[in-house]
Amino acid sequence: MRAEAIVDLDAIKFNLQLLKKQAGVQVLAVVKADAYGHGLVPVAKAAISAGADYLGVALLEEAVALREAGITTPILAWLVQPGSDFESAISLDIDLSAASLRALTEIGAASKRLGKRARVHLEVDTGMTRGGFLSEWSQLDAEHVAEIEIVGIYSHFARADEPQEEQNQQQLLRFKEMVSTLESFGFTNIIKHLSNSAATLTNHAAAFDMVRIGIAMYGLSPDVQTLGTSQELGLRPAMQLRAALYLVKDVPAGVPVGYGATEYTKSDTTLGVVTMGYADGIPRVARAAGIWCAGKRAPIIGRVSMDQFVVDLGSDSKAKSGDWVTLFGNGSHGEFTADDWAATSSTINYEIVTRIGPRVPRIYSAHVY
Ligand SMILES: *Cc1c(COP(=O)(O)O)cnc(C)c1O
Repeated sequence: MRAEAIVDLDAIKFNLQLLKKQAGVQVLAVVKADAYGHGLVPVAKAAISAGADYLGVALLEEAVALREAGITTPILAWLVQPGSDFESAISLDIDLSAASLRALTEIGAASKRLGKRARVHLEVDTGMTRGGFLSEWSQLDAEHVAEIEIVGIYSHFARADEPQEEQNQQQLLRFKEMVSTLESFGFTNIIKHLSNSAATLTNHAAAFDMVRIGIAMYGLSPDVQTLGTSQELGLRPAMQLRAALYLVKDVPAGVPVGYGATEYTKSDTTLGVVTMGYADGIPRVARAAGIWCAGKRAPIIGRVSMDQFVVDLGSDSKAKSGDWVTLFGNGSHGEFTADDWAATSSTINYEIVTRIGPRVPRIYSAHVY
């Protein structure tokens, strides 16, 4: 074995239960993008067993894959392209998001052809200016929804990880207004949902009927700087990424390492070659991260290549080719975390775990060190 991502499903269950208890409302477990790299179906099943009321995905294909795996829990798909196979989606009881009159018309037509009403959540733009109804909202009329069932209304925060920002209050206020408009049309028994992980952790007033939790369910903080670390939030990081050392060798001081000779050995030392690279989602720009090997940290030396990178194990290292090393884990043993890799790569923990590539098998068990 070369490398593997060990996913602790018990940690995912623990995090979901913690967040559900804090929110006190229904929970939609966000499993888009292969469950943030953790594996779509195993994570979905774990989330359901821990009490998830809904699953959320970006793409219709992701929702179909969940149904094909035998999952019967309500699923919301929110980025369903124009021209998609809406009839299949409706037949499979997949809740659809609509953000335009055009989408409502298309979903309505599919419902009519099929003789079954689609379940639709209206996405409204409360200030993020990405998806959601904005200018068309005032044109919505009964005809647009004659063939479908409106089951929900939702929006998304742009800055929930900065709870003191005024924009959060503005979005909350705007959401309430848009909900009132819909209720004034007679749609009163609908699921209202606005909060992502960060809002769930910081803003109880935004919980409404359901919260949509992604990153925190995976045990990662939505923003370490503003909200604290996983540990401070009481969350358990679910993914540990590890690899077997391909090669260990002694090298002299003053030799260049890797493409571009961006770094030289400072003294006689032992280097290790890890066979993971940017093809596996290891950021090429990563600098200050590294691995945990035989009880200590070993930093990256030189550039990350497509399939490999080099670490400086130190002249006193006892590591051998084939030894398992940890790239990131929950940090409890001194290893780097996904947050460390994110910080040194000018990105966020979301991107670190989500981009772990398909060449890396996902293994489901408790943490192994
Ligand atoms: C991804 C996503 C979420 C989850 O966000 P987290 O910050 O990971 O909790 C919630 N809602 C929508 C619409 C999303 O796209």
